[in-house]
Amino acid sequence: MFFTDGRYTEQARAEVQGARVVVERKAPLTAVSDWLSGTRRRNGKRALRLGIEGEHLTVAERTQLAPRLKPGFRLKEAPSLVEQARMVKDQEEIEQLRAAALMGASLFDRALEVIRPGIKETEVAAEMEYAARQAGADAMSFETIIASGARSALPHGRASQAEIPAQGFVVCDFGVILAGYCSDMTRTVWVGRLTREGRRLYEAVREAQEAAVAAVKPGVPVDEVDRAARKLLQKRGLGRYFTHSTGHGVGLEIHELPRIAAGRKDILSAGMVVTVEPGAYLPSRYGVRIEDTVVVTQAGCDVLTPTPKELITL
Ligand code: ZN
Ligand code: ZN
Repeated sequence: MFFTDGRYTEQARAEVQGARVVVERKAPLTAVSDWLSGTRRRNGKRALRLGIEGEHLTVAERTQLAPRLKPGFRLKEAPSLVEQARMVKDQEEIEQLRAAALMGASLFDRALEVIRPGIKETEVAAEMEYAARQAGADAMSFETIIASGARSALPHGRASQAEIPAQGFVVCDFGVILAGYCSDMTRTVWVGRLTREGRRLYEAVREAQEAAVAAVKPGVPVDEVDRAARKLLQKRGLGRYFTHSTGHGVGLEIHELPRIAAGRKDILSAGMVVTVEPGAYLPSRYGVRIEDTVVVTQAGCDVLTPTPKELITL
């Protein structure tokens, strides 16, 4: 059963497969609980467990749902069944993700045209987002990150009113949604005269990123990929500046399973699509991140992000 309301009648009929579509006048959650109460009557005395998705159902929705259910129903948090099933993409999905990655990468060319000292981060983001819509993107897959100067040390520095300074890194992390599928990539460029220290930091992150990409193979535990990146940065004395995990799955949503992180037990298998995005952030100075989206193949992996990783200075 697929419950929705009148706004989605046409779309539901066109897109929902393998389930009966119920268009309700009442709120979908109310409709679901009423329908469940009827089911309970048909099933007699047996207790029914109702699996809920803890990652998605809010506390308020649970509070609304629980008292409407007849006795004999138990709400039970189910493991992320849908997310588990979605980890491995089929061929068609991989082609969609490849197309999204290609379109996403074209925005970086636009960024290179507009990044210069004095232009605001939001103006850079605006140009990229305009280019995305012109190219046919549904939307951006998340808020565009343009983090320049000392802000490049913020791993999630959303584009702000700050002006690109005369010298330093600019982290650009962005993606589009194309036909429902997300892209995600990061490139970091340098503006002005390059310092030796800046070059050193960039090359360390690049090596770490490439080592982690090289570690992506079917059968490999995800934390091994994370370790490959971390080990290289540790060797360069930068381990403590790599403050987040190495990557995440990408698909219909920007963050899917598996997470590429220390202590995670998932094993990579062919058809998984994940990001590889180590970074190093020196607080109140600057930071670098490089991110590709890759698909796990039978033999290793195929990098969907077509953009080179040599340091670009503008
Ligand atoms: Zn990203
Ligand atoms: Zn990412």
